Amino acid sequence: MVLWSGGTDSTALVIDLLSKSDIDLLYVNLENNRFQQYYEKKSILKMKSILNDSNLKGKIKTCHSFGYEQINISKSIYSQPALWLTAASFIANPEIHSSVNLAYIRQDDAWHYKTEMHKFWSSIHNLTSDGKNVPLVFPFEWHTKKNMIDIIKNFEYGEQILNLIYWCESGHTKNCGECASCLRHQQDLN
Ligand SMILES: [Zn+2]
Repeated sequence: MVLWSGGTDSTALVIDLLSKSDIDLLYVNLENNRFQQYYEKKSILKMKSILNDSNLKGKIKTCHSFGYEQINISKSIYSQPALWLTAASFIANPEIHSSVNLAYIRQDDAWHYKTEMHKFWSSIHNLTSDGKNVPLVFPFEWHTKKNMIDIIKNFEYGEQILNLIYWCESGHTKNCGECASCLRHQQDLN
Protein backbone atom coordinates (compact mmCIF):
# COMPACT_ATOMS: atom_id res chain seq x y z
CA MET A 1 0.00 0.00 0.00
CA VAL A 2 1.31 3.46 -0.94
CA LEU A 3 0.42 6.91 0.35
CA TRP A 4 0.22 8.94 -2.86
CA SER A 5 0.23 12.73 -3.03
CA GLY A 6 0.41 12.89 -6.83
CA GLY A 7 3.80 14.63 -6.58
CA THR A 8 7.13 13.52 -8.04
CA ASP A 9 8.40 11.34 -5.17
CA SER A 10 5.28 9.36 -4.37
CA THR A 11 4.54 8.89 -8.09
CA ALA A 12 8.06 7.50 -8.58
CA LEU A 13 7.39 5.14 -5.67
CA VAL A 14 4.11 4.01 -7.24
CA ILE A 15 5.92 3.25 -10.52
CA ASP A 16 8.74 1.44 -8.71
CA LEU A 17 6.35 -0.78 -6.73
CA LEU A 18 4.09 -1.44 -9.72
CA SER A 19 7.11 -2.82 -11.55
CA LYS A 20 7.06 -5.64 -8.97
CA SER A 21 3.47 -6.23 -7.81
CA ASP A 22 -0.11 -4.99 -7.44
CA ILE A 23 -0.67 -2.13 -5.02
CA ASP A 24 -3.42 -0.23 -3.26
CA LEU A 25 -3.21 3.56 -3.10
CA LEU A 26 -4.34 6.12 -0.62
CA TYR A 27 -4.51 9.55 -2.20
CA VAL A 28 -4.66 12.52 0.14
CA ASN A 29 -4.53 16.06 -1.14
CA LEU A 30 -3.60 18.57 1.53
CA GLU A 31 -3.17 21.59 -0.70
CA ASN A 32 -5.18 24.57 0.42
CA ASN A 33 -5.24 26.44 -2.85
CA ARG A 34 -8.14 25.77 -5.14
CA PHE A 35 -6.19 25.70 -8.38
CA GLN A 36 -3.90 22.96 -7.16
CA GLN A 37 -6.75 20.94 -5.68
CA TYR A 38 -8.58 21.02 -8.99
CA TYR A 39 -5.50 20.32 -11.06
CA GLU A 40 -4.28 17.46 -8.90
CA LYS A 41 -7.61 15.71 -8.80
CA LYS A 42 -7.78 15.71 -12.58
CA SER A 43 -4.21 14.57 -13.04
CA ILE A 44 -4.44 11.85 -10.43
CA LEU A 45 -7.21 10.17 -12.45
CA LYS A 46 -5.24 10.48 -15.68
CA MET A 47 -2.08 9.14 -14.06
CA LYS A 48 -3.97 6.20 -12.62
CA SER A 49 -5.31 5.17 -16.01
CA ILE A 50 -1.89 5.59 -17.71
CA LEU A 51 -0.27 3.41 -15.04
CA ASN A 52 -2.89 0.69 -15.25
CA ASP A 53 -2.77 0.63 -19.07
CA SER A 54 1.02 0.32 -19.09
CA ASN A 55 3.18 -2.80 -19.26
CA LEU A 56 4.16 -2.58 -15.60
CA LYS A 57 3.83 -5.95 -13.88
CA GLY A 58 1.40 -4.80 -11.19
CA LYS A 59 -1.89 -2.94 -11.26
CA ILE A 60 -3.43 -0.33 -9.00
CA LYS A 61 -6.13 -2.39 -7.33
CA THR A 62 -7.81 0.35 -5.33
CA CYS A 63 -7.29 4.08 -4.95
CA HIS A 64 -8.89 5.43 -1.82
CA SER A 65 -9.17 9.16 -1.60
CA PHE A 66 -9.49 11.26 1.52
CA GLY A 67 -11.10 14.67 1.36
CA TYR A 68 -8.79 16.53 3.69
CA GLU A 69 -8.64 19.33 1.15
CA GLN A 70 -11.95 20.49 2.64
CA ILE A 71 -10.31 21.09 5.99
CA ASN A 72 -8.65 24.42 6.60
CA ILE A 73 -5.29 23.10 7.69
CA SER A 74 -2.52 25.23 9.10
CA LYS A 75 0.59 25.08 6.97
CA SER A 76 2.53 23.09 9.52
CA ILE A 77 4.37 20.47 7.48
CA TYR A 78 3.56 17.81 10.06
CA SER A 79 -0.11 17.98 9.43
CA GLN A 80 0.69 15.83 6.41
CA PRO A 81 1.97 12.58 7.96
CA ALA A 82 -0.46 12.87 10.89
CA LEU A 83 -3.45 12.97 8.53
CA TRP A 84 -2.00 10.48 6.08
CA LEU A 85 -1.25 7.93 8.75
CA THR A 86 -4.62 8.39 10.40
CA ALA A 87 -6.34 7.77 7.07
CA ALA A 88 -4.02 4.84 6.30
CA SER A 89 -4.81 3.19 9.62
CA PHE A 90 -8.37 2.62 8.42
CA ILE A 91 -7.26 1.01 5.16
CA ALA A 92 -4.08 -0.93 5.95
CA ASN A 93 -5.02 -4.57 6.32
CA PRO A 94 -2.49 -7.15 7.50
CA GLU A 95 -4.31 -9.84 5.50
CA ILE A 96 -3.70 -7.93 2.26
CA HIS A 97 -0.84 -5.46 2.70
CA SER A 98 2.79 -6.34 3.40
CA SER A 99 3.74 -2.71 4.10
CA VAL A 100 2.58 0.89 4.11
CA ASN A 101 4.97 2.88 1.92
CA LEU A 102 5.81 6.57 2.29
CA ALA A 103 7.93 8.31 -0.35
CA TYR A 104 10.05 10.63 1.77
CA ILE A 105 13.45 11.17 0.20
CA ARG A 106 16.87 12.14 1.52
CA GLN A 107 16.31 15.92 1.41
CA ASP A 108 12.98 15.87 3.26
CA ASP A 109 12.54 17.29 6.77
CA ALA A 110 10.57 14.19 7.74
CA TRP A 111 13.66 12.43 9.13
CA HIS A 112 13.69 14.67 12.18
CA TYR A 113 10.34 13.08 13.05
CA LYS A 114 10.91 9.50 11.95
CA THR A 115 10.64 8.11 15.48
CA GLU A 116 7.42 10.06 16.09
CA MET A 117 5.96 8.79 12.82
CA HIS A 118 6.69 5.18 13.77
CA LYS A 119 5.26 5.65 17.26
CA PHE A 120 2.17 7.39 15.92
CA TRP A 121 1.66 4.68 13.32
CA SER A 122 1.90 1.79 15.73
CA SER A 123 -0.42 3.53 18.22
CA ILE A 124 -3.13 4.53 15.79
CA HIS A 125 -2.86 1.29 13.82
CA ASN A 126 -3.24 -0.73 17.03
CA LEU A 127 -6.59 0.95 17.54
CA THR A 128 -7.82 -0.06 14.09
CA SER A 129 -6.25 -3.46 13.45
CA ASP A 130 -6.59 -5.54 16.63
CA GLY A 131 -2.86 -5.34 17.19
CA LYS A 132 -1.76 -6.88 13.88
CA ASN A 133 0.31 -4.12 12.36
CA VAL A 134 1.30 -3.54 8.76
CA PRO A 135 4.82 -2.09 8.93
CA LEU A 136 5.44 1.51 7.91
CA VAL A 137 8.36 1.69 5.47
CA PHE A 138 10.39 4.43 3.76
CA PRO A 139 11.99 2.77 0.73
CA PHE A 140 13.41 6.03 -0.70
CA GLU A 141 15.05 7.27 2.49
CA TRP A 142 18.48 7.55 0.83
CA HIS A 143 17.29 8.59 -2.63
CA THR A 144 17.54 12.05 -4.20
CA LYS A 145 15.04 14.06 -6.25
CA LYS A 146 17.13 13.23 -9.33
CA ASN A 147 16.64 9.50 -8.60
CA MET A 148 12.88 10.10 -8.46
CA ILE A 149 12.81 11.87 -11.80
CA ASP A 150 14.97 9.15 -13.37
CA ILE A 151 12.52 6.46 -12.21
CA ILE A 152 9.66 8.34 -13.84
CA LYS A 153 11.64 9.11 -17.03
CA ASN A 154 12.62 5.46 -17.42
CA PHE A 155 8.95 4.41 -17.33
CA GLU A 156 7.50 3.93 -20.82
CA TYR A 157 4.96 6.77 -20.33
CA GLY A 158 7.26 8.84 -18.13
CA GLU A 159 6.99 12.04 -20.15
CA GLN A 160 3.20 11.94 -19.96
CA ILE A 161 3.37 11.35 -16.22
CA LEU A 162 5.82 14.22 -15.69
CA ASN A 163 3.49 16.52 -17.60
CA LEU A 164 0.73 15.67 -15.13
CA ILE A 165 2.72 16.36 -11.97
CA TYR A 166 2.28 19.73 -10.35
CA TRP A 167 5.12 21.10 -8.24
CA CYS A 168 4.55 24.85 -8.46
CA GLU A 169 4.22 26.93 -5.30
CA SER A 170 2.86 30.03 -7.03
CA GLY A 171 -0.66 28.75 -6.45
CA HIS A 172 -2.34 29.91 -9.64
CA THR A 173 -0.71 28.42 -12.73
CA LYS A 174 0.55 25.03 -13.72
CA ASN A 175 4.31 25.01 -13.08
CA CYS A 176 5.13 28.71 -13.52
CA GLY A 177 8.85 28.03 -14.03
CA GLU A 178 9.82 30.90 -11.73
CA CYS A 179 9.10 29.95 -8.11
CA ALA A 180 11.71 28.16 -5.96
CA SER A 181 10.04 24.79 -6.38
CA CYS A 182 9.77 25.12 -10.19
CA LEU A 183 13.43 26.17 -10.45
CA ARG A 184 14.54 23.25 -8.29
CA HIS A 185 12.57 20.78 -10.40
CA GLN A 186 13.88 22.30 -13.62
CA GLN A 187 17.41 21.65 -12.41
CA ASP A 188 16.65 18.02 -11.55
CA LEU A 189 14.85 17.43 -14.85
CA ASN A 190 17.92 18.34 -16.90
ZN1 LIG B 1 6.17 27.68 -9.92
